[in-house]
Amino acid sequence: MTIDLENISKSYGARKVLDNFNLEIADDHSYVITGPSGSGKTTLLRIILGLEEPDSGKVHLMGDYKYAWLNAGVVFQENRLCENFTAVQNVVMVNKKNSVKVAEEELLRLLPEDSIHKPVSELSGGMKRRVSIVRACCIPSDMLILDEPFTGLDSDNRKLAIDYIREKQGRNPLLITAHDTEGLEFCREIRL
Ligand code: ADP
Ligand code: MG
Repeated sequence: MTIDLENISKSYGARKVLDNFNLEIADDHSYVITGPSGSGKTTLLRIILGLEEPDSGKVHLMGDYKYAWLNAGVVFQENRLCENFTAVQNVVMVNKKNSVKVAEEELLRLLPEDSIHKPVSELSGGMKRRVSIVRACCIPSDMLILDEPFTGLDSDNRKLAIDYIREKQGRNPLLITAHDTEGLEFCREIRL
């Protein structure tokens, strides 16, 4: 499968955020979108996900998809976790196939044992981010789209998260936005 972004432009009022942006996202490839705050990274991901309409240009989904639409595992800019539920419950609820045992095993790849049965509201920012990453990686999807997934993670946890994401990516494309490319040298860098 391939996603072809063709001449995407988007403005908010007088501010042109994306100006004729083109990118072909190919199977088995990874991309990191970098750029200063406000350069349009989140807007671009939201357009790919169909959550935002471009003013002009098109997102073409091409090739064989397992689903009739783009089904992505997503880490949004905000965590969007159910704060009163535990990390395990947050992962179980997104996929019928996620048993408690599966959710525990997955979460323990990135989080300490004593954290995963606490309400998410009691976790640190970096821990919540890691729960969001695991949740995104634990649904069947055609690709992973991760908006600044490493916010609040120290270097060791970032490395663990990158290894985990790569394993879960399989042969699907991966699209990450990030402020820096530490550990993401395997990705093609696109600067906004
Ligand atoms: P980044 O993720 O690179 O920090 P964003 O895509 O969030 O950038 O935002 C790009 C620009 O578009 C910013 O100036 C932001 O204020 C503006 N913007 C984003 N979404 C909206 C919106 N819904 N309404 C108005 N302005 C927006
Ligand atoms: Mg953003």
